[in-house]
Amino acid sequence: MTEGRTRDECLDQANRSLLRSAPVGPPAAFVLALTLGDAVPWSRRLVFVAAVSLVNVFGFVSALFYLRRRRAGGGSSQRWAAPTYGFALGVAWSSIALVGFPSAHHVELRTVIALFIAGVSATNIVSAAGMRSLFWSTQLPLVGIPTVIYLASNERVTRLLGVSMPIYLLVMIVLYLEVNRTVVSEIELKHVNADLIADLTAQQARTDEANLQLREANEALTELAMRDHLTGLANRAAFLERLEAAMSMARRSQHVVGVIYFDVDRFKIVNDSLGHGTGDDLLVGLAQRVQSVLRPNDVLGRLGGDEFVVLLDNLADSYEAVIVAHRIRDALRTPFELGGRAVPVTVSFGVATTLHQGDGAADLLRHADAAQYSAKQGGRDRVEVFDIDLRARVERRLDLERELGDALRTGAIIPWFQPQIDLDTGAVVGAEALARWQHPERGLLGAPEFLPFAEEVGLIVHIDEQVMAQAIRARVALAEAGVDPSFRMWCNISPRQLTRGQPVQRLATFLELVGCDASGIGVEITETGVLVDTEAAARELTVARRLGVRVALDDFGTGHSSLTLLRELPIDEVKIDRSFVRDFVHDPADAAIVAGVTDLAHRLGLAVIAEGVEEAEQETALRALRCERAQGFRYGRPLPLEALFDTLHLARRADDAAVADGLAVADHLAAPAAAALLGDPGAA
Ligand code: C2E
Ligand code: MG
Ligand code: MG
Repeated sequence: MTEGRTRDECLDQANRSLLRSAPVGPPAAFVLALTLGDAVPWSRRLVFVAAVSLVNVFGFVSALFYLRRRRAGGGSSQRWAAPTYGFALGVAWSSIALVGFPSAHHVELRTVIALFIAGVSATNIVSAAGMRSLFWSTQLPLVGIPTVIYLASNERVTRLLGVSMPIYLLVMIVLYLEVNRTVVSEIELKHVNADLIADLTAQQARTDEANLQLREANEALTELAMRDHLTGLANRAAFLERLEAAMSMARRSQHVVGVIYFDVDRFKIVNDSLGHGTGDDLLVGLAQRVQSVLRPNDVLGRLGGDEFVVLLDNLADSYEAVIVAHRIRDALRTPFELGGRAVPVTVSFGVATTLHQGDGAADLLRHADAAQYSAKQGGRDRVEVFDIDLRARVERRLDLERELGDALRTGAIIPWFQPQIDLDTGAVVGAEALARWQHPERGLLGAPEFLPFAEEVGLIVHIDEQVMAQAIRARVALAEAGVDPSFRMWCNISPRQLTRGQPVQRLATFLELVGCDASGIGVEITETGVLVDTEAAARELTVARRLGVRVALDDFGTGHSSLTLLRELPIDEVKIDRSFVRDFVHDPADAAIVAGVTDLAHRLGLAVIAEGVEEAEQETALRALRCERAQGFRYGRPLPLEALFDTLHLARRADDAAVADGLAVADHLAAPAAAALLGDPGAA
C-alpha cells in the first residue's frame, strides 16, 4: 500500500518536473544547436532541435493530462508515460553527440555512441527515480549491448571501451541507487508524517469527543449530587454553596442574609402511622406549598428527613425573615390531603441572620437550627429567632457534647448502685445500676444532669453500654465475693437504644465475655420511650427473656398507654413510678393507683417493685398490698461499688479492677460504633 503510494508520488513528481522543464527544452536545444557552428550542417542541427522539442511537447501534454487526472482523484494509470518521456528526453538530448561529432571531426563512431549512451543513462538516473524496474530494463540493454559488441572487437581501443562501459554502468548504478533512496525516503517520510498527523488528528478528535462526554457526564453528576432526590430541591451541599456565595456578596454590599430552618412537628408519627410513602408525599407537598409563597430569588433546600431551609438574600433586617417564616407557617395551616385523608401539620421555625454574627455559612445554618430547636422546646408550631442568649446556650451545648464524648473515652461514666429489698424478708436482693459522670471540674454528676442531653445527641446508647458492661462485671465481682445467686443487677436501657442499637445482642456478648449468668441480670425499660416502636421493642425484649434476663417496665404509670404496653410487651415486672409512691399513704387517689396497679400486675402474673420508698409507713402499706420489692432512700441511696459490698456485708475479693474490666469490655465491643458516633456526634 505504502509502496504503491510512494511510487505514485514519484510519478507525480516526475510529471511535475516534465511540465516545468518542457518550455525551456526547445529554446535551450536551439541555443545549443547555434553553438555547434558551421562544422555541423543545419539540417542535422534542426533534427536535434526538432527531436528535443517534439519530446518536450508530447511530454508536456502527457504530464498535463496525467496531473489533471490525479488532481480529479483518478488513479495513476499511464504510469509509464513520464518515465518514458524522461527516457526519450535523455535520448533526444544525447543525440547531440551523434549530431555534434561528425566523422569530419575525426571522432570515432564508437566514441560518439559511448558518449550518447553515457548521456542517456545519466538522464535515466533522474527520470526513473522511484521506478527501479524501469531503470534496470533500460539501463542494462543500453550499456550491456554495446559492451558485448565492443568486447568482441579486434581493435584494442574498442575492447578498452568495452571494458570501461560496465565500470561506467557501475558508477551509474551507485548514483541511481543513491538518488532513488533519497527520493523514496523523502516521500516515505512525508507519508509517515502525513499518517502521523492524520492519526494525531483522529486521536485528538476522539479525545475531544471523550472529553466532551466526560464533561457532560460530570455536569450531570454534579447536578444530581446537588439535588435532593425526593423534592428536587437543593440539598445540603448545594444550599451551603449558595449560602456561602450569598454571604460573601452580602459582606461586600453590607446587606443582610437570613436563613429559616424548619421541620415538621412529630413527623415521625406521620411516617410511622401512615407509612413512609405517605411521609414522602407530605414532604413533596410541603415543599411545593412553601415554594409557592417564596420570592423567586429565595432558595429552598432540604437537608434530609423533614428538615428544610430557606435562604433569604438582600434583607434589610431580621424582622423581614421572621415575616417570611410566618408566611410559610400560614401557608402550611391547611391540612394536607394524603391517601384520602386530611393530615394537619405544624412546623417549628428557627431564624438566623448575618446581622449579629460574622461566621461562615455552616455557623449561620447551625444557629438557625438552634433557634428551631428552641422553638420546638418552647412548645412547637412557633418561630424563634437566634440571638445572643441562644448563642450562649448553643455554645454550652457544644461544649457539653464534647465533654461527654471525652468522658466516654476516658471511662468517666460509671455506675452507682442502689439496693433493692425483698419486702417479705427485708433482705437486699438486687441493685439498680445508675449512671454517674465523674466530671473533672464539676465533680460527680447525677443522671438528670447529663442523660437528657445524652439522649438528645445520641450518646445515650454508648452510656448505656458502658454502664451495662460495668454493672455486669460488678455482678461477677459480687458473685466471686459470695453474694446470694438470686441477687439481681438491674440496668436501664434507653428506649432509643432499644429500637436503634442491638442492646440485647450486645448484652448477650457482655455476659459471655465477662462470664456472667443471665439470671443475675435484669433490664429496665422506660415506658415513655417504648411507645415509638412497640413491635421492635417487643422483639428485643423477647430475645432478652429467652436469654434468661428479666425485664421490668420502669416508671410505670407515667406514660400515655401504660395498660396497652402491659398487654403488648413481654415483661416480668412492673416498677411503680416514685411519683405515685411518694404520697400514696396520705393521698387516696395515689393509694388507689398503687393498689390498682399492684393488683393488676399480679393478675397478669407480673411481680411489682415500688421505687422512691423513703418512709416506714410506705413500706408497711406496700407490704400489705403484697408488693414484692422496694427501692428507695429508706434502704440506701445509690452507692459506689465498694459501698454496695459493705451494704451486702461482703468482703471484696477482687480488686478495684472489677468495674474497670467491665469498661474495657464495653470499650472493646463498642469501639467501632463509638468511634463513628463520638467522632461525629451529629451522626447519631
Ligand atoms: P430510674 O430508672 O427511675 O431510677 C431511679 C431514680 O430515682 C434514680 O435517680 C434514683 O436515685 C432515684 N431514687 C431512688 N430512690 C429514691 C427515693 O427514695 N427518693 C427520690 N426522690 N429519688 C429516688 P437517678 O440516678 O438520678 O436517675 C434518674 C433516671 O435516669 C433513672 O430513673 C433512669 O431513668 C435514668 N438513668 C439512670 N442511669 C441510667 C443509665 O445508665 N441508662 C439509662 N438509659 N438511663 C439511666
Ligand atoms: Mg430505672
Ligand atoms: Mg424509675
